[in-house]
Amino acid sequence: RRQDNEANKTGNPLRAAVVCVLGHVDTGKTKILDKLRRTNVQDGEAGGITQQIGATNVPIENIKEQTKHVKGVNEIAFKLPGLLIIDTPGHESFSNLRNRGSSLCDIAILVVDIMHGLEPQTIESINLLKQKKTPFLVALNKIDRLYDWQSAQRKDVRDILKMQQPNTQLEFEKRCKGVILDFAEQGLNAALFYENPDPRTYVSLVPTSAVTGEGMGNLLAMIVQACEGPLHKRLIFSQQLLATVLEVKAIPGLGTTIDTILINGTLHEGDTMVLAGTDGPIVTQIRSLLMPQPMKELRVKNAYIEHKEVVGAQGVKIAAKELEKAIAGLNLQIAQKPDEVDVLKEEVSRELKSALSSIKLS
Ligand code: GDP
Repeated sequence: RRQDNEANKTGNPLRAAVVCVLGHVDTGKTKILDKLRRTNVQDGEAGGITQQIGATNVPIENIKEQTKHVKGVNEIAFKLPGLLIIDTPGHESFSNLRNRGSSLCDIAILVVDIMHGLEPQTIESINLLKQKKTPFLVALNKIDRLYDWQSAQRKDVRDILKMQQPNTQLEFEKRCKGVILDFAEQGLNAALFYENPDPRTYVSLVPTSAVTGEGMGNLLAMIVQACEGPLHKRLIFSQQLLATVLEVKAIPGLGTTIDTILINGTLHEGDTMVLAGTDGPIVTQIRSLLMPQPMKELRVKNAYIEHKEVVGAQGVKIAAKELEKAIAGLNLQIAQKPDEVDVLKEEVSRELKSALSSIKLS
């Protein structure tokens, strides 16, 4: 506690913010992820973006570059190291990022197709986000499908909207009103981000096109602003370990591995970890901490680079013995001393029990 207060005063480093993308099928979640991760960049120069396990790390320098044209960008301090964007969109990865009932996702992007409004899975997503109290922004996507849309690059989306023909602007306004009404039906206030009277009580809508790129800079700028504003405290890096198992995977040559999102703290090769398994807690040593090779060298399949240690927030694959029965969606613990193992085993069992009972309830 005390340390956290100290950290605040001295402006201690922040960790990367964990970002999830949710929404109905076909609204453009994958396309938005591709755009944010710029995996569609042909020349392979994605400006320091690194593929991690289950997530992509977009460094702050890259975000600065992608938001240069956004109005008011000078007011952003760009203090956080970057964004850790979870690669698999949708409910499952969001739900697996949990910690004692709350979510480890710092901020979510809820994708809504401007032509369709709120759809059944959008509403499910909203309920999940409400339940976990996760802040979110809405990407009001596919604006390029508005009648007679004129595309423009490297401009603030507000200016691009202003330069549209009157008919296009009218259609935009009509569809926005519809979406805002849909949100009201779900008990939520929503407003276009530049008309938002109070970001604490109104959800911001950011018009985007994941195909032509309009609004993507605005979306990134809004995320960073939220991280530096209301989310700042939560993002102060702490050495108190916080890591969660996203997926359990068998890999040829490595055996069963766990894909882990490390939020806070540091993992080392050789650490003794305690995690939930179907037959009770598993206690095992980290054999290796693995990250994918840099993008250009990704031709060799399943080639990983071993790390001696990994610092949060990052995605890492852990290889160890006895992971066959590991369970995804729960935290992993590290025993600093041998006598901590029993305490941690109890903690892990308790967590598993409460996770199971919450699954039965829902
Ligand atoms: P997901 O199911 O939510 O992941 O949706 P996808 O990203 O797979 O997109 C579904 C379809 O919509 C694909 O054919 C995309 O090319 C298309 N799409 C996604 N975003 C946009 C957009 O902003 N504009 C247009 N015109 N099409 C889009």
